[in-house]
Amino acid sequence: MKCIFCEIAAGKMDAHRIFEDDTHIAILDKYPIQRGHTLVIPRDHHEKIIDLPTEGVSALFSRVPRVARAILKATGADGFNIGQNNGRAANQIIPHVHVHIIPRYEKSGNPWRSRMIAKDEDLRELAEKIRAHVKSG
Ligand SMILES: [Zn+2]
Repeated sequence: MKCIFCEIAAGKMDAHRIFEDDTHIAILDKYPIQRGHTLVIPRDHHEKIIDLPTEGVSALFSRVPRVARAILKATGADGFNIGQNNGRAANQIIPHVHVHIIPRYEKSGNPWRSRMIAKDEDLRELAEKIRAHVKSG
C-alpha cells in the first residue's frame, strides 16, 4: 500500500501545502480538530518518532515554531497544542511520522478535560521502571 504522506511529499497527491523545504513539508489537515490544524511531515518515510534518528527528531521539531507562528497570525488563534501520535492506540492514522499543530481558540474551550488522579505509589513504581529503561537507551 502506498503511503499518503510520501505521495504528497513527492507531489504525486494534492494537499494544501503551507510550508516546504528540502526535507520537510507542512500541510493543512484534511480532517481538522480546529481551523488551521496543520501537519509537519518529514519527506523521508519513518513510521514513528522512535524510528527517527535524533537529528531527524530535531529537524522535525525545528520546523514547528516557524509554521506555528504563521498559523497564529493567519487564524488569530489564541494558542496552540503540539501533538505527536505514535501507533493506532494513540490515534496515529497515517503511519508516517508527523507533528500536529492544533490552533486553540478561547471561545472553543479547553480540550484537556479528562485527567486521572494518580496514586503516589503507582507513580513511584512507574518512575523507577522508566528510569531503568532510559538508562539502557
Ligand atoms: Zn511515508
